[in-house]
Amino acid sequence: MSLQCQKCSYLREFEAIVLSCKPTVLNQLNCYEVLLNDTILFPAGGGQPSDHGQIAGFDVINVERRGDCSAVHYIMEPVMAGQHVTLCVDWARRFDHMQQHSGQHLITAIADQMYHYKTTSWNLATGIDGKCFIELSSPSITDEELQSIEDKCNECIRNRIAMRARWLDPDSDELKTIRTRGLPDDVAGPVRVIDIEGIDSNMCCGTHVNNLSDIQAIKLLYAEQKKGNTIVYYIAGNRVFHYLGKTVLHEKKLTKLLCTGTTEHCDSVERILKIQKQQNKIIRTQLRELAKLLSFQHLHNEPVDPLAIIHRDDGDNEFMNIIASELTKKDILVFVTVGDNKTNGQFLLASNNETLINDLGPKVTDLLDGKGGGRKGRYQGKVNNMSRRSDVATLLREAIQQK
Ligand SMILES: [Zn+2]
Repeated sequence: MSLQCQKCSYLREFEAIVLSCKPTVLNQLNCYEVLLNDTILFPAGGGQPSDHGQIAGFDVINVERRGDCSAVHYIMEPVMAGQHVTLCVDWARRFDHMQQHSGQHLITAIADQMYHYKTTSWNLATGIDGKCFIELSSPSITDEELQSIEDKCNECIRNRIAMRARWLDPDSDELKTIRTRGLPDDVAGPVRVIDIEGIDSNMCCGTHVNNLSDIQAIKLLYAEQKKGNTIVYYIAGNRVFHYLGKTVLHEKKLTKLLCTGTTEHCDSVERILKIQKQQNKIIRTQLRELAKLLSFQHLHNEPVDPLAIIHRDDGDNEFMNIIASELTKKDILVFVTVGDNKTNGQFLLASNNETLINDLGPKVTDLLDGKGGGRKGRYQGKVNNMSRRSDVATLLREAIQQK
């Protein structure tokens, strides 16, 4: 396979001749598939996603590899067979892919050279925010090893080492010594090899930088263990600066919010979380006490009302359950609600009379526009219309009077 984009990955514009253009359907979209005499738009391959770009001013929505040395382009408008067309590649996307992909070659080579860790798979996450990864054949990799690999990669970048493609005869002895993770079945003719001068040779069909200096920088982010291997996340080139820019903004926001310098951010957050935990504990205790107090108050109002209706905006499940437990001891029908007074909330209906609750529960749920269920004299639900609690009160009062 040898397309113009593989001979010179830096071409951003190219004149091509349309060989054919016919209507087709791609992802349920009516469009046209176009074959050209050659292309600078890379079809997906070698772990690298396809390019975006234009043919004769029309957006290319996808490029796919067809056979060993052809690419099919999908566009929304037709072009004529024989027509000379200008191809443009979405350079920001392509150069980003070249940086991440070439970065992968370099990390793979250095991890192998320094620690004999082999790359078993890799992923080029698309988009400037994407984090790429390399899967290495080791159950674990230390932080020191990761740092050494990163340092060595960046040293190679600073040393401006050349990276270039060459084509070898499929029968050549040299090819047998070159690293590959397998070639597609339909590859015929010379095999493309990517060399990082003096460091690595690898069979690959993708687009790469022609000098490591164009990778600019590599940052290994973190590692995760996966089924006996280690996944190392990384970013290269412009993504490093984009990530750094985002992180600095984030840091500035935190500095403003926490009113502390960057070195104290973590301590500050830990302190806040500790205080929050203590305060939550106090709130929970007070809410429990309040539930008992409200129950006590209800039982000591003479005469005792056989129906208790209690609402608390900031209550919780435990709050409702305590009230239900306290008041059903005295054979009272309990209707407790928590949440917003008008919109969303929760309710608990409880009584010693299981039949009564089984009858009233669904009616209350309907009135408050919610979903609920229950058993053993308790019926609980989440509702969307708390403003109809007064209708529920009327329903419950009538039910008690009919008893
Ligand atoms: Zn490659």
